[in-house]
Amino acid sequence: MKGLLGLAVLFCVLLCGCGAGTAAGQHGPRQYADTAMGTVVQQSVYCADGEEARRFFDSSMELLRGLERELLSWRMESSETYRVNALAGNEEGIGLSEEFADMLRRCLQLYEDSQGAFDVTIGRAVRLWDIDQWAAGEQEGEFRPPEPAAVRQALAASGSDKIRLWEGQQLRIFLPEGMELDLGAAGKGLALERLQELLDGTEGISGAVISLGGSVLTYGTKPDGSCWRVGIADPEDSASYVGVLELEGQWCVSTSGDYERYVEADGVRYHHILDPATGYPADSGVRGVTVLSKEGLIGDGLSTACFILGPEKGLALADRYGAEALFILENGEVIMSEGMRDYYREQ
Ligand code: AMP
Ligand code: MG
Repeated sequence: MKGLLGLAVLFCVLLCGCGAGTAAGQHGPRQYADTAMGTVVQQSVYCADGEEARRFFDSSMELLRGLERELLSWRMESSETYRVNALAGNEEGIGLSEEFADMLRRCLQLYEDSQGAFDVTIGRAVRLWDIDQWAAGEQEGEFRPPEPAAVRQALAASGSDKIRLWEGQQLRIFLPEGMELDLGAAGKGLALERLQELLDGTEGISGAVISLGGSVLTYGTKPDGSCWRVGIADPEDSASYVGVLELEGQWCVSTSGDYERYVEADGVRYHHILDPATGYPADSGVRGVTVLSKEGLIGDGLSTACFILGPEKGLALADRYGAEALFILENGEVIMSEGMRDYYREQ
């Protein structure tokens, strides 16, 4: 819970405007915090009608829980990811819903563009490392890293290039025996896209900021015209931040950091972003990457890929997708794309 609280503290800071304060007679944001998809969800919406805001919070939480239950969870038997994984090795393949097919196509494209750094078929290795059981360093003393032979075996079962797809009326997928999909690196970004659609269809909400752990959606405007401020956590102390992004209108801000989820054993710290080339936590000299994009899933996937690729290849990849990226390196250096400078303010 320590990690979740850190994010909660950070989010509070974001709610202050960067321009004039709330003018007299203008309503402040209505706020709601809860948990879904294994993370803290913090919502702040500008809406004159309290009932309308409450209905939005109910719908948004149901949307997030529905996405997890029906699409993304590898644990819940009700989800499409679970169903696909359970049928790995089935020669006939398995028919996919439109929503799953669209998500998967974008993930496979990012696999190719990132030269394999972003790989949703890495599930076996993620299970082997037991990543979903870690919070931020809580299991100290209990954890043992997996044996190298087991890591090699898990890696041998992965690789998005081994997936076969049949395009027809309905997309069908074939997963080789032993392969497991894990949507942990893109699911929250997809959720931001769905939340944006929900906001589009909700009358009366003029602006909103919704944070799902490391992924944040900004939407619309504030009544006083000031911009949204999204903090970039300091990897050394994730409850404080190195800078803020000042944003207007709709954006998705996605961060991948080695401080978000990790475990320690015998003085060695292991984090949750695996390099598909080795099966071990990525060691690219990066501690955190923040990507600014219009498309949530792509931003989320890019931040994971950029963490593994490091600044040079990562900046080129982000540029290819028209996204901005900011890297915090192990030595504290901050490297960012040219376009990011328009939004970034150092603290
Ligand atoms: P994120 O925090 O968005 O960078 O995503 C990290 C999560 O994605 C991990 O907790 C794993 O579930 C999964 N994951 C780890 N390494 C990779 C990778 N190289 N490609 C895709 N997903 C990964
Ligand atoms: Mg990600």
